[in-house]
Amino acid sequence: MLNAAQIVVSEHIEHGWHTIEGDAPGCSTQMHYYRFGSDTSKPKIYLQAALHADEQPGTMILHHLVAALTQEAQANQLNARFILFPMVNPLGLQNIAFGRHQGRYEPSIARNHNRAWPNLYEAIADKVKNNLCSNAAENRTTVMQAVEQWLNLQQPLNALDKQRLIAMREAFDAEFILDLHCDEDALNHIYISPSLLPEYQDLANWMQSAATLTAHDSGGGSFDEIWTLLWRQLKQNFPHNPFPPPPLSATLEYRGNFQTFDALNKQDAENLMGFFRGRGLLAGRPAAPAQQAPSALPLHAMQNLRTPYAGLLAYQRELGDKIRTGDVIAEVIDLHGDQAFKKRRPLVAETNGLLFSRRMDKYVWPGCSVAKIAGEQPLVAKDSYLLGD
Ligand SMILES: [Zn+2]
Repeated sequence: MLNAAQIVVSEHIEHGWHTIEGDAPGCSTQMHYYRFGSDTSKPKIYLQAALHADEQPGTMILHHLVAALTQEAQANQLNARFILFPMVNPLGLQNIAFGRHQGRYEPSIARNHNRAWPNLYEAIADKVKNNLCSNAAENRTTVMQAVEQWLNLQQPLNALDKQRLIAMREAFDAEFILDLHCDEDALNHIYISPSLLPEYQDLANWMQSAATLTAHDSGGGSFDEIWTLLWRQLKQNFPHNPFPPPPLSATLEYRGNFQTFDALNKQDAENLMGFFRGRGLLAGRPAAPAQQAPSALPLHAMQNLRTPYAGLLAYQRELGDKIRTGDVIAEVIDLHGDQAFKKRRPLVAETNGLLFSRRMDKYVWPGCSVAKIAGEQPLVAKDSYLLGD
């Protein structure tokens, strides 16, 4: 069912791919991976890109990271093992409609590819509840074994679930799980659990993250959250048992999709290498320290500014602007009626903060997200659904 053909390039470098039988007769696709380091070395770093298959900066970054890690492996500089899926959603490459690639949603079930990943606590709680002890390391082993058993029992029916299972099987026991995405027209930013900060502020620094946004559970079952949520829910439900810290798991948003460029994304890959080197996962020290990035802010304090009008969007503020409540972020120009092509309606900020994301397409309709502002004051309840779609 889950076939992997492998090509061993050298002792500690492996390139392989899983062949996923498609749901349509005669269709199959390849899900490629690269491994660096021996199978037994620790820690394990898992990176994936293009879960939203139409987001290419991450794939370009991992393309350059493959080259960089190949050099490190050949020079015997690895203090960890790495596994990379530069295109973790090859099924999403097939979805081309009306001359445009659509990669955010699985069209057959209208589901966002980065939603509805399984709740691992619910999957394993019954299995582990009588086997937990007073030793955190032993509890980690118990939990990891239960997760692995649960993954091994899954029998995916369709191609998409087969593809998802391959990713989870590779990620579940990693200490570092980095999911590379991009926004529309944006500055670098990160979505991460608050339980991982300030411990991993260095990741934000190396990435030059303009906004690091935290939520324990944004409500959508996104890929990065299921790994930290498992440990949070274990701690909440078994308060008398110790558990290890959660893995570093984060969604890294690399600017906007049109900013997929060789030199820019090669620098992003080098910055990730700086993070790895700074953490001792690669030998040597970074040539220079990373610049300090802004401290994290709560995701439920981020304004996702939406338009109630249809029309043509005219931005009044730039990415990186410091915004005050009441500032006009954009105006929407009417496209019909007696004021067509004359009247402009303002869209105003409801918080103080940093404008870090804007829309690419400028024709909008009611409900479209037009800007994201990272603020400090909560705008909705923490346990609201905090994602844009
Ligand atoms: Zn994405």
